Amino acid sequence: MNFSSRLLENAVNEFSKLPGIGQKTALRLVLHLLSQPSEDVGRFSESIVRLKKEIRFCKICGNISDAEVCEICTSPKRDKTLICIVEDTRDVMAIENTNQYFGVYHVLGGLISPMDGVGPSELNIEPLVERARTSPVQEVILALSATMEGDTTIFYIYKKLKDFPCKISTIARGIAFGGEIEYADEITLARSIATRVPYGV
Ligand SMILES: [Zn+2]
Repeated sequence: MNFSSRLLENAVNEFSKLPGIGQKTALRLVLHLLSQPSEDVGRFSESIVRLKKEIRFCKICGNISDAEVCEICTSPKRDKTLICIVEDTRDVMAIENTNQYFGVYHVLGGLISPMDGVGPSELNIEPLVERARTSPVQEVILALSATMEGDTTIFYIYKKLKDFPCKISTIARGIAFGGEIEYADEITLARSIATRVPYGV
């Protein structure tokens, strides 16, 4: 692409680094921004800068949060003895949308993937073990996608937690939700949590 302006080129290059955005789409977005009032573009860029600068991760569950401890972990209505283990914040949002789950979460921040160089120490797993050791956890539900990485992660966590007195279960894997729990429809997802099965090897 030949650009008439270096500023335009820089902006298009930055946008095209986003997932699913090619150069043509990036150019369309940049030209759209250029046509908007300055205040709108200012708000847009400020929201991104503040997002990166101010966002925090809940020190209990690892979910994205505005405060040191997230709203789910601080809520007196949530059952702190039931922990649902998920890959990332999108899964928390998907499960919250079902309005059927009243436990708390533990967000791993990814899945074990030796091919991508992601080992257990890169993930929020040790704090989970610590949590199981120090708080009265009765059950952990492994709600991870039915992929090789999901299975590897489930097995690793199972080995870490199997000597604790808590139950370990997985969401029903036979249900077709395309592998990624964030894409599951709410009824299917709620049902797969309700019909979770004990995990064992
Ligand atoms: Zn939390």
